[in-house]
Amino acid sequence: MTGNLLPSLDEPVLKTTKGLTILPEGHPLIVKRKVPLTWTLRQARSACTQCIECTLACPRRLLGHAIEPHKVMRAVSFGVTAGLEAVTCALLCPECGLCEFYVCPQRLLPRRVISEVKAEFQRRGVRYPKTDREIRPDPFFEARRIPRQRLSMRIGVWRYEREPAVFVKAKPPRVVRLRLKQHVGAPARPKVKEGDEVKEGEVVAEPLPGDLGAKVHASISGRVVKVDQIEIVLEAG
Ligand code: SF4
Ligand code: SF4
Repeated sequence: MTGNLLPSLDEPVLKTTKGLTILPEGHPLIVKRKVPLTWTLRQARSACTQCIECTLACPRRLLGHAIEPHKVMRAVSFGVTAGLEAVTCALLCPECGLCEFYVCPQRLLPRRVISEVKAEFQRRGVRYPKTDREIRPDPFFEARRIPRQRLSMRIGVWRYEREPAVFVKAKPPRVVRLRLKQHVGAPARPKVKEGDEVKEGEVVAEPLPGDLGAKVHASISGRVVKVDQIEIVLEAG
């Protein structure tokens, strides 16, 4: 339930791609991801009952972190009425989606709201404040764990659970697109230009000295056919 919704299967695989889940366009998981932000916020304001179920079930909170999604919902709807930690706790959320795909009885989208709050903090360079608070798992941690099968039924993916197809080695691609930002930190800077020949494994982009980032290597041997701010495109030679 974590991860991003890809606009198409032509999106390149990145270093951070752990797997792809392909679902029909009308699947509830996809439909929920496409709800416009304005609707999400309007629904939060009008329908969140502050039942705190999202907070009680939040796996991050159960591990001992000070995250309370119901307070983020309240702050976004009515303004920050208590301490700022009611919203900065959004920075602790790994966006597992349990609160929105499984828990909320009002079918609201707390993950989406939190994700927007987090993005705004990140744009403004706000970090989670340092704290010496002890991280101690909730005493009900074990009792509140959700059985995987029940989760699978509730979010509607049980029908796709089957033995995986036998892996058939794919043909090597003719064209590969190498994104310059596939990691935390700054995008890598290209070391090649259009028309250059590269060998498989060669470094084609790397971070500037002192920048946090990672090198990008050619995954095939061939010719560089495009270089821009976003990616390097190689064609097999
Ligand atoms: S579970 Fe839903 S209704 Fe309850 S506090 Fe969270 S967002 Fe609001
Ligand atoms: S998405 Fe919801 S349940 Fe998951 S960590 Fe964030 S607040 Fe908690």
